[in-house]
Amino acid sequence: MSNQPEAPAKGKDFIRQIIDRDLEDGKYGNRVHTRFPPEPNGYLHIGHAKSICLNFGVAAEYGGKCNLRLDDTNPVKEDTEYVDSIREDVRWLGFDWEDRQFFASDYYQFFYDVAELFIRMGRAYVDNLSADEIREYRGTLKSPGKNSPYRDRSVEENLELFRSMRDGKFEDGTCVLRAKIDMASPNVVLRDPALYRIKHAHHHRTGDTWCIYPMYDFAHCLSDAFENVTHSICTLEFENNRPLYDWVLDTLLEGIKDETLFADCPEFLAELKAHPGFAARPYQYEFARLNITGTVLSKRKLIQLVQEGHVSGWDDPRMPTICGFRRRGYTPESIRDFCERIGVAKADSTVESALLEHCLRQDLNERAPRYLGVLNPLKVVIENYPEDQEDVFEMPLHPEDESMGTRKVPFGKEIYIERDDFMEDPPKKFFRMGPGREVRLRFAYYVTCTDVIKDENGEVVELRCTYDPETKGGWSKDGRKVKGTMHWVSAKHAIPAEIRLFDKLFTVDNPNAAKDGKTFIDYINPDSLNVLTHCLVEPALAEMQPGTNFQFERTGYFCTDLRDHTPGEKLVFNRTATLRDSWAKIQKQMKK
Ligand code: ATP
Ligand code: MG
Repeated sequence: MSNQPEAPAKGKDFIRQIIDRDLEDGKYGNRVHTRFPPEPNGYLHIGHAKSICLNFGVAAEYGGKCNLRLDDTNPVKEDTEYVDSIREDVRWLGFDWEDRQFFASDYYQFFYDVAELFIRMGRAYVDNLSADEIREYRGTLKSPGKNSPYRDRSVEENLELFRSMRDGKFEDGTCVLRAKIDMASPNVVLRDPALYRIKHAHHHRTGDTWCIYPMYDFAHCLSDAFENVTHSICTLEFENNRPLYDWVLDTLLEGIKDETLFADCPEFLAELKAHPGFAARPYQYEFARLNITGTVLSKRKLIQLVQEGHVSGWDDPRMPTICGFRRRGYTPESIRDFCERIGVAKADSTVESALLEHCLRQDLNERAPRYLGVLNPLKVVIENYPEDQEDVFEMPLHPEDESMGTRKVPFGKEIYIERDDFMEDPPKKFFRMGPGREVRLRFAYYVTCTDVIKDENGEVVELRCTYDPETKGGWSKDGRKVKGTMHWVSAKHAIPAEIRLFDKLFTVDNPNAAKDGKTFIDYINPDSLNVLTHCLVEPALAEMQPGTNFQFERTGYFCTDLRDHTPGEKLVFNRTATLRDSWAKIQKQMKK
């Protein structure tokens, strides 16, 4: 029976169709068991979120389980800092592996025992060809490879050499353990792939216990089976490796049938026979990885951005990492919604980053409380407002959700408005403040600009206004209408804040497709960060805890910074997104 999907029908995606089929066939009883297997060699990015939502999501839907497996078989690049960040990010996204956190390095002895079994079966051999020679002998897509002169070593010789490898008797690169499959296979992956290599390196968990490390293709399928995984979901680039996934597990299953192979280790055979993961072994299924416009999604490239200082760290709010999005103010709900909308398919595609922003705005529009803040303040003195008067306006925290309550906003004779909200010579469609015009100060009063004060360079530094006391609350009893409504803060009560505005990190839609000797680094946007240090915000924001989302009316969604914001002391806000939603526009264009 083929394990791969038929053409997907409408409705459920192909992964869920496969699971339905397997449940119907009783292939694993009623078990559904997946895993999310990151290598702890970097921080997780939005592409990983797709895999996390799929693996944990599927398990939850079917009442199954999902393991978190740290796939740490390469000692050189891995680190506990990454392990910690991965755990934090998966949890933050809203998923729980309960007591099923595993490390591939926990299975090193098991991998080793399987390798010896393969040697005893005559299915693996120690090869002394150099890396270059192995490459040369491998052949090409068009021509078959040729056998290594070491391919027919005896079982005894192979066992002795492999144990010497393990015991540290050889230097890095002296030899490798290879699977004996077929040097003429049309699939290059099957031309006697390496199973083990020598690496005298310190491992972040096993220390110096091992100096040989298993290759991904050998370790991954064995880890899956060892953990009783049923559906091993990975990305499309592993499609060619699937026959090797199958070969390793099928070879092991074949070995289990022959007791004579276990004469020296009957307990190993008993263990394997009792293990549900080998009785009904997992199969691999590949889905399309997520690509998103305007950024790079590869740990190697993200590491480069961090190490070369193009960003302030993995959690720089411009980074497409999960921790970057978190610090920027994205919510786990919005990322999960995004992953659901993009779905799971078998063909690679690139998703507009505007869709992710759209999901964010939908979520924050409902949940984010509204406040007043001025990014580029321009002073306004209300000349006829009594010196000793001090109104306090009670404003709703959300225009459509009364249950969120209200906050009190003090008003005064001197206020600040947004510099962009004033024009001395306003064009027709500009409805905000201009000389002689009456506008509304949100929830406060109608005011009319009477005077414009400039410095010696001709720059506007202050406005003078009059207010109409009959318009308290921001509406006029006589039904007089104004076109513009402005946000403001009281000069006496406002609190200074630093606000960080972000633009795209790259100047092109696809920095991965660098041309003409350029690399993605050459497309970094030099103006992607704009720090405003003279912002003023309403006093209610003074005690906000780091990581709080809210909206400044008209200027966007913001979030108190997770690192640099200190309540009551130093206020630092990140702009998560502007209010303008470009997704609707893109959709309209697509329909045309
Ligand atoms: P990168 O290419 O960024 O280094 P990776 O595939 O090497 O990523 P792993 O830590 O091995 O990173 O990935 C863990 C899991 O996440 C794998 O199952 C992988 O297929 C999946 N994954 C990684 N990137 C994406 C992506 N862009 N879209 C969907 N799934 C992804
Ligand atoms: Mg990888």
